[in-house]
Amino acid sequence: MKTKKYDVAIIGSGLGGLAAAGYLGKAGYQVLVVERLPFLGGRCANTHYQGFTLPSGVVWVSDGFHGQLCRDLGASFEIRVPKPEYFYRIRGKDYEMPAKGGLRAMITLAAEEAEAAKAMSAVKRGMSWQEPPMSISVKDWLQQYSTNPSVLGVFEVLSTLSSGLRTFELPAGEFFRYLMAMSAVKNYGFVPGGCGNITEALSKVVKDKGGEIWLRARARRITQKNGTVTGVLVDTADGQVEVQAKAVLSNAGPQATVELVGQENMEKGYLGELEQKLKPSPQIIFYIASDRPLLECQGMTFLTQSRRILFMAPLTNLCPELAPRGQHLMEAAAYLGNSAPPFDLRQEMELALADLRENLPGFEKHSRILLAGCYYGGWPVMRCWPGNNLPQKTPIENLYNIGDGTPPPGWWGSPSAVQSARIVVEDVKRRIQPG
Ligand SMILES: Cc1cc2nc3c(=O)[nH]c(=O)nc-3n(C[C@H](O)[C@H](O)[C@H](O)COP(=O)(O)OP(=O)(O)OC[C@H]3O[C@@H](n4cnc5c(N)ncnc54)[C@H](O)[C@@H]3O)c2cc1C
Repeated sequence: MKTKKYDVAIIGSGLGGLAAAGYLGKAGYQVLVVERLPFLGGRCANTHYQGFTLPSGVVWVSDGFHGQLCRDLGASFEIRVPKPEYFYRIRGKDYEMPAKGGLRAMITLAAEEAEAAKAMSAVKRGMSWQEPPMSISVKDWLQQYSTNPSVLGVFEVLSTLSSGLRTFELPAGEFFRYLMAMSAVKNYGFVPGGCGNITEALSKVVKDKGGEIWLRARARRITQKNGTVTGVLVDTADGQVEVQAKAVLSNAGPQATVELVGQENMEKGYLGELEQKLKPSPQIIFYIASDRPLLECQGMTFLTQSRRILFMAPLTNLCPELAPRGQHLMEAAAYLGNSAPPFDLRQEMELALADLRENLPGFEKHSRILLAGCYYGGWPVMRCWPGNNLPQKTPIENLYNIGDGTPPPGWWGSPSAVQSARIVVEDVKRRIQPG
């Protein structure tokens, strides 16, 4: 068996894995990224289907976060920011969300003045004085101030956008942490050519700094001695390679990390915490092709009183290169009635389709569903429900998890994967010298 030595081995080339590789490479560490698939990026990649470019996950990013990450690392980044970014459909009518004071504006449209003022002053208190506790859900917290279904609809959209969870599932404390963390992040939009261009640009930076990325390379076993990590055994097309490393960062998700290192090598308390807290969140996505734009707006349209579809993104209105000439592409996201199994997927699909028929004029006459599927299990929207935060460190010394399975409090989606990578990189820099 071949043996190779690196400062840090990273299992998985998701956004978290590549961000960590970029920061460590910049700090002078010799880094190896191993990816089991033939393409980079995990849930932030481009896939191709019938001439369309479809996302493997991420579609909506921001200049303030993703652009800043790329600028930090010297990677190229482009974004098209729609104007306006959001429309809210309230009682059947679309309202443009203003860039400033958006939540206030939407609640004021949804409710009578006095009720809106009551809900808004509670939001303001939660943000500027003290966030509500984790023991109450967003729905129960809100219903102290408003039971108006239109107001609840606005919060349902915000809750699913900020966590992938419904208002009755998301702890109110976590929701407010998210509002505070993300309030500084500006300029959301779509990446020309698809979000896979972000992970491609990051991989170029990793290689420019002397790092290596192996595709079709599956980590088979994480090795350890006396409770300290020693490396990874990797299956490649040329046979198994023994990778020796001072630290191993697993981007494969905490459950996969346990399987790779062997449950017998992990502490019981840690395994118990994973079992209790590690819950993926599901989402149904429809990719819809049409012979004309189904919506005129450039950005997201949020549905506040639908059965299942919460947002619709007419991707090709700003990024026509994602579809063959003369065709159009839309992504519509449905959130299930609840995020914990058992799921009745047939019924969930029917409810989502009823929403599409009702909310998209021309859906039946001018469009066809290219692909529709439920993202869950090993390819979920989030590996861990927000609020159930798990540590990046494992009980094995110098073995860390990075990615959206171990997000810091208040972070969701791909930014949470990057934030967990940043935390781990700082710890590696404190503990391990490069070279
Ligand atoms: C449908 C959908 C829509 C989404 N939309 C958005 C959005 O618009 N905006 C947003 O911010 N977030 C969005 N998300 C969430 C976002 O995709 C994830 O939070 C983020 O991409 C997770 O990145 P990660 O670093 O955790 O790694 P992942 O993307 O999970 O990558 C992990 C990588 O590890 C590899 N791997 C696993 N096991 C091994 C092994 N044994 N050996 C080698 N490699 C291995 C996998 O193949 C994979 O490439 C969406 C997710 C989904 C599913």
